[in-house]
Amino acid sequence: MKITVLTLFPEFFDSFTNTSIIKRAIDNKHVDFSSVNFRDYTLDKHNNVDDTVCGGGAGMLLTCQPIVDAIKANRQKDTKVIMMTPQGAPLNQQKVHELAQSDDVIVLCGHYEGFDERIRSYVDEEISIGDYVLTGGETAAVVLCDAMIRLHDGVITTTSHEDDSYENGLLEYPQYTRPIEFEGQKVPDILLSGHHENIRKWRLKESIRKTYLRRPDLLDKKELNKEESKLLSE
Ligand code: SAM
Repeated sequence: MKITVLTLFPEFFDSFTNTSIIKRAIDNKHVDFSSVNFRDYTLDKHNNVDDTVCGGGAGMLLTCQPIVDAIKANRQKDTKVIMMTPQGAPLNQQKVHELAQSDDVIVLCGHYEGFDERIRSYVDEEISIGDYVLTGGETAAVVLCDAMIRLHDGVITTTSHEDDSYENGLLEYPQYTRPIEFEGQKVPDILLSGHHENIRKWRLKESIRKTYLRRPDLLDKKELNKEESKLLSE
């Protein structure tokens, strides 16, 4: 997968691409990641990429020319151009799976008051990471890129994300590691029983219980199978 982030702050991504699983994914060539400064594309003699807002109002807006030229210069025929914006579709695990199918994406990071509206016509998808406003799209782009990269074949062992929260419309069951007892809190006996089928059932039940208590809205959306419906009613 190729990811090109267009940003005013390419150095923002240095620690992201040099740490842990993401670094390994890049080193092992699962991902080809680059961050490009769209200021490099400005034709303005002072290197400006922003201007005041037409009609008045506070703040500066990113102008069309450098952003659109940066998109055109980095886009191939099948590239998906994604704009990070609080006005976009909310990011969730289903959306991450959908976007991670693309082999080549450009991620646009805004700053200041955001983008001139006309830039939107050069974009395939607008994505928001939540109903709040950040100072810039870089933090949001890191969230999106991290979530996409970890789904990529070979980046993490396939089975380790199959039970993750949201993968099957539920929150993940409680997990434990050693020691078996910590300050009076014990690992549930069933997890030490070695009985795989009972462990599977316990995990599913706990997953449903946790979802019911913390995110009942997820259960409203999920089509429960027979076993899950039975566990929910217990
Ligand atoms: N004036 C814009 C608005 O109200 O829609 C907000 C601009 S914000 C201060 C600057 C940039 O941060 C945006 O262009 C976008 O790239 C990024 N950003 C802010 N909040 C975001 C969010 N919730 N999700 C994705 N990107 C966000």
